[in-house]
Amino acid sequence: MPYKFTFDLSRIPRLFFTEIAKVSYQKGLHKKAGKIALEIVKRFKVQELTGLNLSDAVLLLEDLIDIQARNIVERENFMQTGKRALFLPHCSRKYMDNRCKADFNPKIPTYVCNHCSSDCLIHKAVTVAEKKGYDVYILPGGSCIPKILKTKHYDGVVGVACGEEIKLGGEILRKLGIAGQAVPLIKNGCANTSFNLETLLKIL
Ligand code: SF4
Repeated sequence: MPYKFTFDLSRIPRLFFTEIAKVSYQKGLHKKAGKIALEIVKRFKVQELTGLNLSDAVLLLEDLIDIQARNIVERENFMQTGKRALFLPHCSRKYMDNRCKADFNPKIPTYVCNHCSSDCLIHKAVTVAEKKGYDVYILPGGSCIPKILKTKHYDGVVGVACGEEIKLGGEILRKLGIAGQAVPLIKNGCANTSFNLETLLKIL
């Protein structure tokens, strides 16, 4: 289930994300997430910059801290993996209509980017991930994940999604014994969502 609220963290300085990783690691990972999230919300004026109310801002931050913490815990296992996949959200495509020239493969199901726009975030992510040997899927929804993982047998998976979907995906990976890394969206919604490409590059 995606969040019931929309957010856009793109106006928040990059230091914010570095700080999340640092405090979650230093303070016993996510055990004190609620208190840490509240501190960070106040320090970075998240409410003012995003328009979120305090409880939604804290929920969002708790999830981001949890994701960073799990990335740190899983990193070593992930680095040992051979066959890897990258799951991207279709809502980060530059266009959501027929201007997007991606083909849709309903059997998997996934979009297959045809690289029509050099400034499309999905084009950039697909290009770098494929160069690194990843199989890339541009998913129409998180419900496709179990089917892909059961048929393709990956050792490691990187997922880009909103915090709620990352949590659900993480549960699936855990049950299947697959090492995972995640990149949270910094802007959610049904279209024009975005993630930090630099963060993704470091994870891949
Ligand atoms: S670059 Fe790929 S994902 Fe982006 S709009 Fe074009 S075909 Fe669609």
